Amino acid sequence: MAEANGHTVPHLIVNRAQVVSEGCGACGKEFASTHTGERALSAAVGQDNVTYMFCAACGDAIMGRVQADAVRQRYTWDWAVPLKGSPLSHNGKN
Ligand SMILES: [Zn+2]
Repeated sequence: MAEANGHTVPHLIVNRAQVVSEGCGACGKEFASTHTGERALSAAVGQDNVTYMFCAACGDAIMGRVQADAVRQRYTWDWAVPLKGSPLSHNGKN
């Protein structure tokens, strides 16, 4: 078992097929601690649609405050699951 010990574990965001390696954009918490994963909110911000990820608790708080439909469309609920190992750095090598 390779347990993350004080390191940030990469997370796979299933719906949008993104891999993120940082925690929640608001509180810094890691997204998913169990293999079944957790809800996560993604927000596309600015003209470049830079994506920020938020944990479920922060996402609920954010969505509770976002009123305008035009703004709401920038937010999407995703599902984050932990990745085992580090496929991005080990693919094709071995
Ligand atoms: Zn958070």
